[in-house]
Amino acid sequence: DTGVALVKSGVLTTCTHLPYAPFQSKDAAGKVVGFDVALVDLVAAKLKVTQEIVDTPFEGIKSGSDLNAGKCDLAAAGMTITEERKKVLDFSDPYFDATQALAVLTGKEVKTLEELAGKRLGVQGGTTGEEYINAQVKEKKLDIEVVSYRDLAALQQALATNQVVAAVNDLPVWNEYIKANPGKVVVATGFDTGEQYGFAVKKGNAALLKAVNEALAGARSDGTYDKIYKSWIGE
Ligand code: GLN
Repeated sequence: DTGVALVKSGVLTTCTHLPYAPFQSKDAAGKVVGFDVALVDLVAAKLKVTQEIVDTPFEGIKSGSDLNAGKCDLAAAGMTITEERKKVLDFSDPYFDATQALAVLTGKEVKTLEELAGKRLGVQGGTTGEEYINAQVKEKKLDIEVVSYRDLAALQQALATNQVVAAVNDLPVWNEYIKANPGKVVVATGFDTGEQYGFAVKKGNAALLKAVNEALAGARSDGTYDKIYKSWIGE
């Protein structure tokens, strides 16, 4: 016994929000895989339990309500560590650095938010990308219609079908989309938001948090982290 209490004995139950490739998505066989999943598998191995993934809306993850309700032990959702979220969740050490990026259809390049005046810009509801855009629109008094989509797939679909002329999300998910759909969209510009992802546990779950941080530190020191990074993110 590792001394870590789990909501379901013998299982590390992990809440995520699909799809969010390359961090979590379903493979051809319907299995949830990705960068986050591979790292959390290391935590499960350390605890000598299996991992079970629960797909749930991002709102319940970032607000702490899923963890508080015992829906899962751990949250792994490409989730940026923010001061606001730290009030309701306990975050692991950072495991990934990200920035925001503006994607457009190839050939429809715009370089600045100002150029989107009078146009529709897509964001993903509840994310740091949405917060960043709303803050920019307010601060610079931009005349942009910000349209919020419930998940990444809906946002990418809206861009692909011209319902919005540009879309904002974390840079690595656009890089992954471009890999999977060559030639369709380009990253027109980036916003250096300096974000870091963390896994989260219910406030006060120090035993699980310690196991997560130890698994991350172990993976960083023995080369496992680099291997997982190469296989899901690239060189
Ligand atoms: N990193 C972003 C955030 O934390 C997006 C996360 C996500 O959509 N899964 O808000």
